Amino acid sequence: MSPPYQPVGQCIYCGATRYGLERKKLGEEHIVPYCVDGTHILPEASCKRCEVKTGGLEQSLFGNAGFYRAARVAARTKSRRKGPNTVPLWIGPDGNQARYDIPADEAPLSLTAVHFGPPAILNGGGWYTPDKNVAIHHHQLNSHMPRPGESIVTPNIQLDSLQRLMAKIGHGYAVAELGLTGFTPFLIDCILGREENHPWGLFGCVDDPAQPSGAYQIGLSEWPVNDDVLIAVDVRLFGTLPFPRYRVVVGRKGQDDKPIVREEIVDREGRITSLAFTRL
Ligand SMILES: [Zn+2]
Repeated sequence: MSPPYQPVGQCIYCGATRYGLERKKLGEEHIVPYCVDGTHILPEASCKRCEVKTGGLEQSLFGNAGFYRAARVAARTKSRRKGPNTVPLWIGPDGNQARYDIPADEAPLSLTAVHFGPPAILNGGGWYTPDKNVAIHHHQLNSHMPRPGESIVTPNIQLDSLQRLMAKIGHGYAVAELGLTGFTPFLIDCILGREENHPWGLFGCVDDPAQPSGAYQIGLSEWPVNDDVLIAVDVRLFGTLPFPRYRVVVGRKGQDDKPIVREEIVDREGRITSLAFTRL
């Protein structure tokens, strides 16, 4: 299948069938972020509460200088969302760096990416097998380099946010391609930030044989592991730039039971007072 996708009619994270108190129609879910010019969109697929939980992810990764500007160059089109006019840079000798907000057009253009090994679960590991092969790669994309005595610090990479964003992309794509009943999802708690332990064994990078092309690439594959068939989604953002191909194991093929929805009951002060479990 390819976009445009049919409306889901149910929140792909919690199963809610209405957006919130103010309206019924669910929000659209951008599987691939706006700022990469993502055209994979699921209509009527997210409730307000889940939207709030997933909404900050793009901003925390793409709102910074490195990712954001790289995305604009990769897409070679004007983003629908206007970017910031300035980017923060920390410039100066070691231990004495000062923040400069410089015009975005004059900023050093670079791409910082995190590379992992392949997903452990596809190689006999478990959900929580930590990845010992994390490496940060920095690609300088224009000629703006520090002068003698200066250094330029790349934006912070938030590993948890990166993992949650990749989980969100993978889950949304699997729903689009297989339907909500086509697989048993693994990553909803991770996407909504409810996991205490991050399931690093479900995430990884794979060598990318494809020639870089387009704004981004996304695809789905099946992996027989023991008695299950696991569903993995590969996504490579920034198609024309040296960005890794991430592989996310999003679930198990088929669905034995209707999913159980966990809902938090929150009091007026915002404290969670109890949990409700409902089988759909
Ligand atoms: Zn929801």
